[in-house]
Amino acid sequence: MKPESHLFYQTRSRRPVLAEARGVYMWDVDGKRYLDGSSGAMVSNIGHSNPRVIDAMRRQMEKSTFGYRLHFETEPSEKLAAKVASLSPSGMEKVFFVSGGSEAVESAIKLARQYAVTVGQGSRWKVISRDPSYHGSTLGALALTGYAPLSDPFMPMMQAMPKIPAPRAYLDGLDINDPATGQHYAEMLEAKILEEGADSVLAFIVEPIGGASTGALVPPAGYMRAVREICDRYGVLLIHDEVMSGGGRTGRFMGAEHFGVEPDIIAISKGFGAGYAPLGAMIAHDRLVDPVLDAGGFLHGHTYAGNPLACAAGLAVIEEIESGGLMQNASRMGGVLKSRLQNLMQRFSFIGDVRGEGLLLAFELVSDRQSMQPLPRALNAYNELVELAYAEGLIIYSRRTRGGLEGDHFLVCPPMIISEAQVDEIIEMLTNALTKFAV
Ligand code: PMP
Repeated sequence: MKPESHLFYQTRSRRPVLAEARGVYMWDVDGKRYLDGSSGAMVSNIGHSNPRVIDAMRRQMEKSTFGYRLHFETEPSEKLAAKVASLSPSGMEKVFFVSGGSEAVESAIKLARQYAVTVGQGSRWKVISRDPSYHGSTLGALALTGYAPLSDPFMPMMQAMPKIPAPRAYLDGLDINDPATGQHYAEMLEAKILEEGADSVLAFIVEPIGGASTGALVPPAGYMRAVREICDRYGVLLIHDEVMSGGGRTGRFMGAEHFGVEPDIIAISKGFGAGYAPLGAMIAHDRLVDPVLDAGGFLHGHTYAGNPLACAAGLAVIEEIESGGLMQNASRMGGVLKSRLQNLMQRFSFIGDVRGEGLLLAFELVSDRQSMQPLPRALNAYNELVELAYAEGLIIYSRRTRGGLEGDHFLVCPPMIISEAQVDEIIEMLTNALTKFAV
């Protein structure tokens, strides 16, 4: 029995105490080693204890650790904002720092709304999102989250926003490579805008490549472009939630670069601070920010935003990604890992789908591949397989796929520094866990 603790998060269940973490490995206080096969929650993109980042943080810590943003600019925040702008679509030159993903999403919604009010479109307030989706745990971001078990208990404290189905072609038996499939799902957005009344719709928020809620869902061919066109047609702003897909893990800095589509606002976090510091950002088009600033200012902010220590860490993380060729490695090793996961489908008939891009990868369990029905709920596979992998020394990340109630998918998203030998190690431990799960 572990001693009682004063800490609590989602449940009473307690995890081993972390002693040390280096590269792709973590050790608990009993000396057990784990391969971090999910980078925490798709956060530790460049691995643990990176010397460049630690050194940059140490140097910054010796200079200053806090300068309140209404009193001082800081060198790291200025430099990081310029760097982020250079990695964003042209015209998206305005960067607003926050401390996490939910705050980045909240900032995006509030900027969109304030922009609409400023330019005389105050009737627009609805933000359409997808189901399933996850955009954060604060009340505004939760209103956009398509995951009923997380949001329902909080009604009527917030206004649930309209949702359209996420484009899960693999469940609907449609060809992901057929542009007609992308068009089919994008038209659901158009229908929803018309149903709600275009004059009331402010924005559409979408993860360019899905994260935890959908399990690395890659949209069908043409979907993102068609979505952009529909937003333009109805004067609806397009917000990309790149909290999980941004930061390089998919092989490009922004997930949307795979589709050549540019949004109006981007939210990033997770891999941006890469586990070294709580860091996020809302990146917006000048076209939206300038009128708001000219009209008196953006009515939003968080005390720790632009923290120099966090920004120094964020800068060093990007330098490490660029100098180490880590996005190229994510593409290469992602390809190797994906094909090895696909090989597991031959051995385990209950793996229904393997999907993702770069090192944002997932597999989903089903009763059988013909029906693609979920495993019986009572199996509690999403917990069970994670625990079996844990016992092997492998960390993976699971969620219930369908309505948040049943269906089991598992994200396998190791740090971008992973080697081929370490990919083999993941597959070996996962095979052992799946074998035990199968009996
Ligand atoms: N958006 C997406 C796509 C996410 O994956 C998450 C976190 N899982 C969030 C927003 C919220 O981020 P945070 O937990 O840092 O508030």
